[in-house]
Amino acid sequence: MKRSLLIKPNMDDHYPTVSHGQGIYIFDNKGKKYLDGSSGAVVASIGHAVPEIMNSMTEQAQHISFVYRSQFTSAPAEKLADKLNKLVHANQDYYSFFVNSGSEATETAMKTAIQHWQEKGFSTKNKILSRWSSYHGITLGALSLSGHVERRKRFIPLLEQYPSVSAPYCYRCPFQQTYPSCQLMCANELDTVIRRIGSEHIAAFMAEPIVGAAGAVIIPPTSYYEKIKEICDHHHILFITDEVMTGLGRTGKMFGIDHWGVKPDIIALGKGMSAGYTPIAATLASESVMEPILQGSKSIMSGHTYSANPQSAAVALEVLNYIEKHQLVKKSAKHGEYLLQKLKQIQFKYQMVGDVRGKGLMIGVEFVADKTTKVPFTKNVGVTKLVIDTAMEKGLLVYPAAAGSNGGDGDAVMIAPPLVITRDEIDHLVTLFEETIQDVQGQLIP
Ligand code: PLP
Repeated sequence: MKRSLLIKPNMDDHYPTVSHGQGIYIFDNKGKKYLDGSSGAVVASIGHAVPEIMNSMTEQAQHISFVYRSQFTSAPAEKLADKLNKLVHANQDYYSFFVNSGSEATETAMKTAIQHWQEKGFSTKNKILSRWSSYHGITLGALSLSGHVERRKRFIPLLEQYPSVSAPYCYRCPFQQTYPSCQLMCANELDTVIRRIGSEHIAAFMAEPIVGAAGAVIIPPTSYYEKIKEICDHHHILFITDEVMTGLGRTGKMFGIDHWGVKPDIIALGKGMSAGYTPIAATLASESVMEPILQGSKSIMSGHTYSANPQSAAVALEVLNYIEKHQLVKKSAKHGEYLLQKLKQIQFKYQMVGDVRGKGLMIGVEFVADKTTKVPFTKNVGVTKLVIDTAMEKGLLVYPAAAGSNGGDGDAVMIAPPLVITRDEIDHLVTLFEETIQDVQGQLIP
């Protein structure tokens, strides 16, 4: 067989060759059909091969695909910035800076926060805090903030050792408490850490409203973010939400943080922003964050060759219009609730399913060797991979996630289908997933 020169996540694995996609399905070149139960990497939120998006692609390409952002602006990029500002729906405007990936969006968020304080004359405020169970991206700055053990470990010497706090991981509470009697110890830890380091050294705190890849859908309790924002404001620290995974309808609200009614200072977006039709992501900064920057250096000190290219902007704009036109945020909430209940039935039936948790169509399933003690399977069993491979054999795609109290010693998958999924399709997804769990559990617990 001809040697493949394309570097893939695991060169020993066999990857089917994709042929095409249609709606919530993907087909390989041998004709096998896969239900896209995770929208790829929680990206393809409007499904595959949507005609409106294909039309917007060709229409924009007929005008122009690329201009350099230092030479021209473009109508699609201007309109996209306006649209995102409307979606944030705050009592001040949010400016947009366009980049190409979620990692670049979080890196830009970090830089924007630091620059904000520099322009105000506070040049020592340059550390960014985050949480242990977190994933903010693969580039070195974003990885410095991420608690994803597996993705970090080789690059520790290159990473900034930014201080971290505990995630609000109620299934495995780091303080062995239960909500509400815990009085949000996890949120209060942020206050402790800030006091220890000194707020004069801290620019911002970054968090995914609901933790994705590094926690398999960790949903904080009510009033958690209210408390976090209060602590950040009290210490003059900016609050950055990484909405790369949770943004634009995925969780049943336009932004994940909307479940807590809090407005962040800076927002990072990616993934669902173009639903996978083109690489584009964004950093949104509020007027009050931008004010000193605009008065001082006039702009954010960052930029990529493809930043704000009209081709990607036109596509993202059409994706956002599609989400609104088809009321996909509402659908995500409604269908997410239905899917969650169905998956909870699987949790009660199967010993290896420790927890099922979700908001909208972002659902995590955590696996345990013992349901009562919540002890994870030993790592060399490779349960996550076993579940993913078995599901794929059956024609279902699910997404791997790290779980467990040490940021990765547990097994979990995420189920996050396109927001356009119907009830019948959800039933089919659940049937395939239950068959998968039945098979895997049979192998693990004979
Ligand atoms: N932030 C979050 C919350 C993510 O889930 C991801 C990717 O999974 C990223 C940032 C990085 O995005 P990208 O892979 O597009 O660089």
